[in-house]
Amino acid sequence: MTLQQDSPTLSKHHVGDEQMLIAGEWTAAADGQWIDIESPRDKSLIGRVPRGRAEDVDRAVTAARRAHPTWRDLRPRDRGDLFRRIADALEPEQERIARLLSLENGNAIRTQSRGEMQFVVDCFRYFSGIAGEAKGESIPLNPSVLDYSRREPLGVVGAIVPWNAPLMLSALKIAPALVAGNTLVLKLAEDAPFAVLAVVRVCQQFLPPGVLNVITGYGPEAGEDLTSHPSIDKISFTGSTAVGRRVMEKGAERIVPVSLELGGKSPQIVFADADEEWVVDGTISGMRFFRQGQSCTAGSRLFIHESIFDSFLGKLVDKLAALKVGDPLDEASDMGTLVNGKQFDRVCDYIASGMEQPGVEVALGGLPPAEGPLSHGYYTQPTVFAHVANRWRIASEEIFGPVVCAIPWRDEEEVVRMANDTHYGLAGFVWTHDLGAGLRTAHALEAGWVQVNQGGGQVLGQSYGGFKQSGIGREFSLEGMLDSYTQRKHVSVNLGR
Ligand code: NAD
Repeated sequence: MTLQQDSPTLSKHHVGDEQMLIAGEWTAAADGQWIDIESPRDKSLIGRVPRGRAEDVDRAVTAARRAHPTWRDLRPRDRGDLFRRIADALEPEQERIARLLSLENGNAIRTQSRGEMQFVVDCFRYFSGIAGEAKGESIPLNPSVLDYSRREPLGVVGAIVPWNAPLMLSALKIAPALVAGNTLVLKLAEDAPFAVLAVVRVCQQFLPPGVLNVITGYGPEAGEDLTSHPSIDKISFTGSTAVGRRVMEKGAERIVPVSLELGGKSPQIVFADADEEWVVDGTISGMRFFRQGQSCTAGSRLFIHESIFDSFLGKLVDKLAALKVGDPLDEASDMGTLVNGKQFDRVCDYIASGMEQPGVEVALGGLPPAEGPLSHGYYTQPTVFAHVANRWRIASEEIFGPVVCAIPWRDEEEVVRMANDTHYGLAGFVWTHDLGAGLRTAHALEAGWVQVNQGGGQVLGQSYGGFKQSGIGREFSLEGMLDSYTQRKHVSVNLGR
């Protein structure tokens, strides 16, 4: 790993104060309070957003409720068309917004933020194209009854997103919820609001007031105010499993449908025939090292067949050691920073606990350097723990940092049992030339998405979501839009006399 101590772009950037969007108006919090936003690249204050609370949330929900009937009754094709125009208008803004994202959440501009911003444009185009696909069916009950179903919007959706991929995850709430005919109140993550707000400023040029409302604020305040608001018809949450449980409790109080996209501790299984460079590259991508491991999908338990363990690990360590950790705004950086001091301390705590574990081998990395220019930001190094036992804390809890646990295995049944021995079930990766073994393993893994011989990111059109405590419901697709943002109604018509 090379820390870029002399990065030329490590200078102060400032965004300033940004506001929330309620009923088509850009507004401060009703009680005038603000949240300071720090850049993780140098811990400097880059701006402020309103500290939204109950009164602001209530105004936003009321605006969304008021806007709903007119929005619902637009032709679906017209709603879709607005998103096509928003996507077109966002294109020239992409670089500016991607840089905002790197500044606020620390993801490297070249390897992450540009791609995430491109996803927003693609996502809006995708959902614009399927706006007319919320179709019903007719059911052949008997000749004298016409029975047909309709996919109707739910009403006002309350959505909450985390900071790790705020643009992508916000786009995945905004586009399908609105295209399906709902109105929305979106609560942003307190650590990364600016890039999404920049996208929303473009959306707002096209959407009627109140259709999209955006609140900034803390989870236990604005987040809870939203999930407990009596006029919300649906809650869509992406974040940690612990908060997801709380959100579900809130939904249960009023029997409001809840979608949850939660955490993971996903396995990557490398078979004995896969000791190759491209597999090593794939596992690095699967572990999301280029996002400092801050991904729900990260394949953070790396099961390597014992016959190739040392050889594979050697290649992995060499490649990770060559990654450049540095200023997220620098083109040369492969990896940026963790998002904030809280996550930094948390990840360091896991690394320290791993290093103290009897029997562990620290094959690469460890605690971040305490000195030098990059100690002024939340930079961590790629860390590989080897000869890890699947039950250890570092192998069972979601670290959400650039830390992978390499675990040796001997037979297929044993590795599948270890891979599934977790309450998470979001993703999985299998690496082998043996088609039968690859597919057998893919089918046996308890996870919502398994990739064989690739470690890529989620793709629009493919339903994504978790098994077990990794979530409920699916996103990214037409089916996800229909299941998450519409409800089915049947109409039965008597044709006889
Ligand atoms: P988090 O759960 O702490 O926060 C997520 C959001 O929930 C934030 O906007 C926060 O303000 C809000 N929140 C916090 N407490 C709340 C409460 N009591 N009521 C309502 N809202 C509340 O998660 P995080 O640390 O921001 O993000 C990381 C987590 O998100 C990881 O566990 C990661 O795996 C998960 N994640 C999952 C997916 C997925 O698609 N499955 C995608 C990205 C991230």
